[in-house]
Amino acid sequence: MPPEDDAIRCDACPVLCYIKPGRTGACDRYGNHDGQLVRLDPHVVLDRALTRGDSVVPFLGREQDWDGKIVSGPETFVTAIGAGTTYPDYKPAPFIISSEVQGVDMVTVVTEGIFSYCGVKVKIDTDRHLGPETSLVRAQGEPVGHVTTSEYGSQMLSLGGVRHLTGGSKHEGTVTCETLLKLCERKPVELTIDGGATVQVQAGKPPVVDGVQEERMRVGCGSATIGMFAKQWLGKVDDVVVVDDHITGVLSEHQAGKLLGIPETGIKIKGRRSTPGRYFRVAEPGTAWGGTNIEDPLVILQEFNPKSAWPGLRLLMVSTTGEQHAYFELDEKLRPVQKDLPDGLRESVARIKENCEPALCTVLFMGGAGGSLRAGVTENPVRLTQSVKNALTRVTCGGAPVYVWPGGGITFMVDVTRMPDNAFGYVPTPALVAPIEFTLTLGDYAALGGHMNHVRPLSSLLSERRISARPENASPFSSAKSARPER
Ligand code: SF4
Repeated sequence: MPPEDDAIRCDACPVLCYIKPGRTGACDRYGNHDGQLVRLDPHVVLDRALTRGDSVVPFLGREQDWDGKIVSGPETFVTAIGAGTTYPDYKPAPFIISSEVQGVDMVTVVTEGIFSYCGVKVKIDTDRHLGPETSLVRAQGEPVGHVTTSEYGSQMLSLGGVRHLTGGSKHEGTVTCETLLKLCERKPVELTIDGGATVQVQAGKPPVVDGVQEERMRVGCGSATIGMFAKQWLGKVDDVVVVDDHITGVLSEHQAGKLLGIPETGIKIKGRRSTPGRYFRVAEPGTAWGGTNIEDPLVILQEFNPKSAWPGLRLLMVSTTGEQHAYFELDEKLRPVQKDLPDGLRESVARIKENCEPALCTVLFMGGAGGSLRAGVTENPVRLTQSVKNALTRVTCGGAPVYVWPGGGITFMVDVTRMPDNAFGYVPTPALVAPIEFTLTLGDYAALGGHMNHVRPLSSLLSERRISARPENASPFSSAKSARPER
C-alpha cells in the first residue's frame, strides 16, 4: 500500500521506491520533482558536428508540434544514457527515435538496461605474477571475482557476474556492484588476490602492483625476444638468456641462434626444456625478473659444460622488459663474473625497452541483453535477437561499438574507455545499469514487430545534453546501414 503522504512510487526497477517531494530514490537516478517522477541525469545525445568543432544547428523548434515527419540526421545519435528504463518490461523503450541517413529511414531504440547478469573482464598489462589462476579476487575483503587465464603479456581477471551479485551475502553483492560500477566509470579500485598481490586497477591507466606502478608490458616471451633481437646480438656477445616465467630463451640453442651460426657455449639451464633454446618453469612465478620470483638470474644456471664453454665467454642475461639485465664473463674456472654492460649491448637492452608498450589496465563491461528488455523494442523479443545475429540491428552501448558473442542471447562486451562519462548507474537489487541502443532501418523495425506507434523524431526530446561523439567510434548508422543485405 502507498504511504499516506504525497510520496510517489518509482517503478523503474524492482526496488519500487516511494520518493517524497524533493527527494531521490535509493539509486539517486530518479527523484520526485513537484509530484513528478523524473530521471535526474540529462539525456545524452552524441553530436559529430561538435566533434569536428562545427557550430551546432539546433533541432526543430521545440514549440512546434511534431507533424509526423522524420527529422534529424547522421550528425546526431541519441544514446540511452539518462533515458530511463523499460522496467517492468511490458512497455516500449523510453525513446524510439527516427532519423533519415542518406535517404534511408533509420530507427534507434534506447533504454537503460538493468543488468543482473553482468561483469567486467580486466586485462592488466604486466608480467608480474598477480596470483594463481582461479584465485579469488577481493574488494574490501569481499570476493568479487577470480583470476582467469593469462594472455600474452597480460594478466586477466574476471569480476562480477550473477553469483557474486546475488548468490552470496548481501554485503558481497553490494561490494561487487560498487566495484563494477567504479571500474566501469574508469575510477581506481584496489583489489587483493588470495595468495597473490594487491593491485590497483583503473581503466586506461597503468596498474599498480603491490604499490609499484607498472611502466611497460613485456616485448614478448623469452623465446620471441631471442628471435626479435638475435641479429643485434651477433658478434657482440657469445650467449644471451632472456628470463621469462613462461618461456625462457637461450640464444645459442635457439633456432634463431643456430641459423645465425652462433656456436654452442656449454650453457645449462635449470627448468624443463621444451624445445631447443626454450625452457619452461625455470623458477616460480613472482614479481621479479621476467615475472619470476628470482632476484639473482644466476640461480637458473647450472655449471657450464667445460667441453664447450671457455674462459672469457660473454653472457648477457635480460628480462622480457629489459627492466632487469646483467652482463657476465666466465673466469678461468668457468664461473660467471658480473661486469659492466658493454656499450655495444646497451643499445640492444634499450631496444627491448623501447619495444615494450605502455602497461595499461583495460576494462570490458560484459552484459546480457537477451532477456526482458527486448520487449521494450519489439512485441516478439526473439525477433530482435535474430535481427542482431543477422547484422540488421546494430547494438551500441552509449554510442560505443560492442562485440556481440555468437550463439544464443545478446551477450555483448564494450570497452568502457570508449563510452561517455557517467554512462553507468546501479540499482540496489543489486545490479548495474548500462545504456544500450539498437539501431536499424525503419523497415526492418516494422518487420520485427517494433512499437511503431512510439517512433518519434529526435526533435521531440524535451531536454538533452549534447556531447561530442568520440571520433574513434564509427557512427552507429554507418554500420547498421552497410550491414543491410540486398533485397
Ligand atoms: S532504486 Fe532507483 S530506479 Fe529503483 S525504484 Fe528506487 S529510484 Fe527507482
